[in-house]
Amino acid sequence: MKFLNKLWRTGRRAREIGSARLHGGTPCGTCGFTGRPLHRNVLWPELVAAWELPPDWARWMDEREGSRCAWCGSSLRSGQLAGAIVTAVNARAGSIATSLSAVFRDARARGLQIAEINSAGNLHRYLKRCPGLRYSEFGSQQVGVPHEDLTQLSYADASFDIAITSDTLEHVPDIDTALREVWRVLKPGGAHVFSTPVVWSRATRQRATLHGGVLTHLLAPSHHGPPGTGQTDFLVFYEFGSDFTAHCTAAGFELTLVKHATNPAVVTFIATRPASG
Ligand SMILES: [Zn+2]
Repeated sequence: MKFLNKLWRTGRRAREIGSARLHGGTPCGTCGFTGRPLHRNVLWPELVAAWELPPDWARWMDEREGSRCAWCGSSLRSGQLAGAIVTAVNARAGSIATSLSAVFRDARARGLQIAEINSAGNLHRYLKRCPGLRYSEFGSQQVGVPHEDLTQLSYADASFDIAITSDTLEHVPDIDTALREVWRVLKPGGAHVFSTPVVWSRATRQRATLHGGVLTHLLAPSHHGPPGTGQTDFLVFYEFGSDFTAHCTAAGFELTLVKHATNPAVVTFIATRPASG
């Protein structure tokens, strides 16, 4: 029975990949596969209500996380993040890879110092091919997985060519301190490559503050991580809006936005510490 189930699943996967490939699309930044993504809904009603997302934005945010590469399973968001990391690596190492699965075959790319401040979904399995990777999790309580506090990183000044955060900045109590901390640990010319949800049609809302250890809720507590899953249950401090980019430039970064062709919620940020900074 187990064998039949496995055979059925393998057949279904082959059909999905074949059908996705027939429909074309944008190459996945993680694995390089070109094909239509598979989709399942991932946002839950309580989150959409707390976030007060207009219907279009609810759909775009759902697609951002729920549309996945038929080959490697990367979401639209993490596939785009992977592509932006490859761009940042190529620019610093002189490599010419087009996917994260290929980029660390180049010895020059393997020579970079990279901080994966929290794991970017299925990108970690490729990033760890880089000997200079320092991996941590935001809020890690797992033995053997170091925790990094974005408002107080443990790393020395000017340590990294690239720093990566994946949908984490909205959970940090003080966005300006966090961005300045990442700037501090980057080498001049280094880049912070990251994703964070931004609703570009409105201004940032702060849901909570943390001052001197005192947590104050300005709006009803909202968490990312579906209720009852026991997975990530991070409190949302910020629902970023169009003013988000001003925080990046105020922290001293030069900002490049990588955008999706049709979905305005799918944006990756490449924030560069100027070479003379
Ligand atoms: Zn892929």
